[in-house]
Amino acid sequence: MPLIDLIDKLQQSLPSGTVLTGEPMARHTTFRVGGPADVMVLADSGADIQKTVALCREENYPFIILGNGSNVLVRDGGIRGCVILMGEGYSCVVPSGEDAVYAHAGARNNRFAETCMELGLAGCEFISGIPGTIGGAVFMNAGAYGSETSDIVKAVRALDREGNFLELTREEMGFSYRHSLAAEREMIILGAEFQLKKGNPAEIAARIADLNGRRRDRQPLEYPSAGSVFKRPLGHFAAKLIDDAGLKGARVGDAQVSEKHAGFIINRGAAAAADVLELIRRIQNIVFGMFGVRLETEVRILGEEALS
Ligand SMILES: Cc1cc2nc3c(=O)[nH]c(=O)nc-3n(C[C@H](O)[C@H](O)[C@H](O)COP(=O)(O)OP(=O)(O)OC[C@H]3O[C@@H](n4cnc5c(N)ncnc54)[C@H](O)[C@@H]3O)c2cc1C
Repeated sequence: MPLIDLIDKLQQSLPSGTVLTGEPMARHTTFRVGGPADVMVLADSGADIQKTVALCREENYPFIILGNGSNVLVRDGGIRGCVILMGEGYSCVVPSGEDAVYAHAGARNNRFAETCMELGLAGCEFISGIPGTIGGAVFMNAGAYGSETSDIVKAVRALDREGNFLELTREEMGFSYRHSLAAEREMIILGAEFQLKKGNPAEIAARIADLNGRRRDRQPLEYPSAGSVFKRPLGHFAAKLIDDAGLKGARVGDAQVSEKHAGFIINRGAAAAADVLELIRRIQNIVFGMFGVRLETEVRILGEEALS
């Protein structure tokens, strides 16, 4: 089926989502780089997601799911396929029991933490400063300050690649460091239920403010980035290795190793994905040459290289 027909079908059959074509991914990633996605669906409901997955499967058209694009690097040639973006409309956070809440995959972590604070529920303060969505946090098992998403997940609602509905317990999610069964099986997270503890809203708010203050002090939040580029290698810290290799401030075009936190690569304005990728390659080579440690990217690299 020609692409134009798929776009037509999506536009006619989605209950509430928006369909865009040739949409620059730089607008949808915190790195602010990346070429166009052939098709993008801003999904505002579970039905939008299910319908899009079903149509893409029917037409054998590739698709990927993104949240806030805060852990991805999209190459300059963009994405040949459909990007399903968890839109603002798919972001409810509601109580689901005395000490529990259910959140749609598109809920932003900071809004989620704020709602829990208002409900007097503690335990998710660490997630507030992670600039992604609940779907991305569950998929990546995002974590900070000694806690991980898996610590508070009770159950997850998802679709498998065939579009079948799944309900998984925390144990069934196979969480480990920045990893989950969802990532292994490329599941689509629809939402998750979280088990929290009763707490005092003012104390919870103070903890969130403290953690976010620490972030502002230590991370280059004034520049676009995708957070820590590399996974923590066993027995080491990526940022320390990069710093010890004298790479703080190293630059390819407008992509630069942050002076404030060597684990971050920042976009100083006009970086291309190719600049970031070249800087990643140089860091990996130099760190391996000096310390014999292979740095693996935590950031997910997607899409096609630009045609030269
Ligand atoms: C300034 C900064 C600070 C950061 N600090 C931290 C930190 O402290 N700890 C940490 O762990 N991370 C951190 N990150 C990285 C990032 O925010 C997290 O990995 C976050 O969980 C990604 O969520 P997202 O919604 O942006 O996912 P995206 O970047 O949109 O996607 C990431 C991956 O998850 C998949 N995905 C997203 N949503 C879904 C879904 N609903 N269903 C299926 N798959 C999905 C995507 O396909 C992709 O493979 C930071 C990033 C930045 C820019």
